[in-house]
Amino acid sequence: MQFMEKSERPDLSDKFRLLPSVDAVMRTPEAETLGCHIGSGNLTRLARNVISDLRRDLGGDKFAPGVTREELVAEASRRLAVHWSNETISGLRRVINATGVVIHTNLGRAPLSDAARQALINEASGYCNLEYDLRTGKRGRRGARAEELLASLTGAESALIVNNCAAATFLVLTVLAAGGEVVISRGELVEIGGDFRIPDVLVQSGATLREVGTTNRTKLTDYKNAVSDQTRLFLKVHPSNYRVIGFTAAPEVSELVTLAHAHGLLVYEDAGSGALFDLTNVGLGDEPVIPRSIAAGVDVVSFSGDKLLGGVQSGLIVGRRDVIERIRRHPLYRALRVDKLIYAALEATLFAFSRETAVSEIPVLRMLSLTAEEIRARSAEFVAAFDASQTKPTSLKLGLIVGQSVVGGGSAPGVQPATTLISVSHPELSATTLEAKLRSASPPVIGRIENDTVVFDLRTVAVDDEAILADVLQSI
Ligand SMILES: *Cc1c(COP(=O)(O)O)cnc(C)c1O
Repeated sequence: MQFMEKSERPDLSDKFRLLPSVDAVMRTPEAETLGCHIGSGNLTRLARNVISDLRRDLGGDKFAPGVTREELVAEASRRLAVHWSNETISGLRRVINATGVVIHTNLGRAPLSDAARQALINEASGYCNLEYDLRTGKRGRRGARAEELLASLTGAESALIVNNCAAATFLVLTVLAAGGEVVISRGELVEIGGDFRIPDVLVQSGATLREVGTTNRTKLTDYKNAVSDQTRLFLKVHPSNYRVIGFTAAPEVSELVTLAHAHGLLVYEDAGSGALFDLTNVGLGDEPVIPRSIAAGVDVVSFSGDKLLGGVQSGLIVGRRDVIERIRRHPLYRALRVDKLIYAALEATLFAFSRETAVSEIPVLRMLSLTAEEIRARSAEFVAAFDASQTKPTSLKLGLIVGQSVVGGGSAPGVQPATTLISVSHPELSATTLEAKLRSASPPVIGRIENDTVVFDLRTVAVDDEAILADVLQSI
């Protein structure tokens, strides 16, 4: 009563008296079930947050004047689950990628092959022979099998695996060029995205940039004239995410190699995506083919493990044995090396290339090799099955439209494989609302919006996930 007399808004403090205690909220059956999953510390914290929200909402007239304590307890226990899901939404979850962007960096780049998934769980998630030689019982070399596969698939003498291609570039330049000059064409001073800019990486590595030629044309003599006693290597960078077309020129890689070697210099190629074989059949004839660079005499080549290779995040370095050994012995390698999980997934991925089943086994290559006709047939079947499964009339309308997929991951910028898109629309929901609903489903479905319509591209949806996609649509 004392409180009421002091308050200038007596009805408000009356309302606040209805606020449930933390204890009361935690004793509801819903809270007890949630508590079993998340632990009592988390539950107490959530209950406090929920009650403080209720206090705010009571003050803001969110509740009817006659609201009871029981109703507030029920509301609080409902909000516990909402708070928890808001807190955990940033945790890693599987999603269905219906965007048609095959190597989608925001969605985890390459989905793994079945063999890679099994190797992760069965071979590497417990104890394993990471640095243990099962023949001798002595210490073994990390990643030996993955490196052997990589060397044999690229024709290189030796290989080394680090955290990602950015790390590979930094490491190679640090070991081979720190304190000296690196010659690079002005047409290759690129930004790959996510703040990875070749000139900045060069500065960090302690090497000095010596740019030659012009944006569109660089000649062999430009490289030749730049050579001094400070020069350590020629750097070739694949301008992954754009193309200069028209009046362009660059020396053949083999010419560059001959020039470099005549001056006792090395050639290092940052190939980015890099294909292990010619991907013309998959529509990607323009991508650098790693074995070709090695055959042309390039001393070191690096590329990503989770772009066109279709494996896990990693930076793959292949090249001359003596050069790779210099890199392996550098202290920085220890800071950039990868985990057993990465080796396991890479071994399985590389083995698919080695037994020549990569196009059917590696999801990235399989998705890219799907023809427009195959996707049209799958999409038509999906729409027909969805319509047939509607027991009651639904407002969700699916349709088919002609469209294009995207390779993504900064690979093959000019290539947009033809596809069939499934349009998804609802008379009462805008495209952005529908897109958000799909995104908050379980599992989240990520589509794209084209001409104010939500569209799905089944190119990037695994056949096994089509049923889940249909279920999510039903639930809208
Ligand atoms: C993608 C790319 C990189 C960076 O590779 P990550 O594996 O993402 O670190 C470096 N260089 C080139 C040319 C690339 O295309």
